[in-house]
Amino acid sequence: MIRSGSETPGLCDADRRPVLFTDLDDTLFQTARKIAEPVCESRLAAQATNGHHSYMTKSQASMTQWLLESTRMVPVTARSTDALSRCRIPFKNWKIAANGAVILNPEDHADSDWSMHIARISQTFRTALEALDALICSHNADGRFRHWIVREEGKPVYFCVKSNGEEAWLDDLHEPLSSITGEEFLHHRNGNNMSVTPHGISKMAAVTHLIDRNPEIRDGVIFAMGDSLTDLPFMGLADMMMIPPGSQIDTAIRRG
Ligand SMILES: [Mg+2]
Repeated sequence: MIRSGSETPGLCDADRRPVLFTDLDDTLFQTARKIAEPVCESRLAAQATNGHHSYMTKSQASMTQWLLESTRMVPVTARSTDALSRCRIPFKNWKIAANGAVILNPEDHADSDWSMHIARISQTFRTALEALDALICSHNADGRFRHWIVREEGKPVYFCVKSNGEEAWLDDLHEPLSSITGEEFLHHRNGNNMSVTPHGISKMAAVTHLIDRNPEIRDGVIFAMGDSLTDLPFMGLADMMMIPPGSQIDTAIRRG
């Protein structure tokens, strides 16, 4: 259905471009080691404190520029607000960070209702998140892993672990982590990224909140883009889903 601005009194001058909810890492850009073509400083997408910066390929840069002009692009990322602030792509609308724990409005202010909701979940799962961190410490005498609790406004919101060597080393952690998490956490694993997030904190929950609270999103066309299987729940809220070739989702579909 094609809608005209005149259908909604008072919104004639509103931005009617589609909203695009999009994951960032391994969707719009990736670390240099994953890019076949030479990296180019003009396509630097996000700076990392450890020096492993992220870049767009030439085609990703062209696509991102087109999407910035054609849509209201809303990043939906596991990055903390701090890591998101090191991203060079000029997002001008809402932003969803920390796996859905934070929603920022276009003025970069946190949605206070959502923050209070997340604070209650964080309080419930604080002890379990600290236990996960301590558990991995006890499995890490040889320094194979780096791990941390992602905190927003001082509150723990999810647990993250990466291998310092082979990605397969993370396989050894699944069972010990599961002994603590049970059914109350969502496990995410894609490449060298492993995270454990309390139920109630998710990209899907945050996107749902934004759609429910904003008729200007709800009444228009919504696209969604992501690479990981754990992106699919929020992508399913859109009118159309997009995935990068070779991504975890693409691989799962081709495997059948
Ligand atoms: Mg991703």
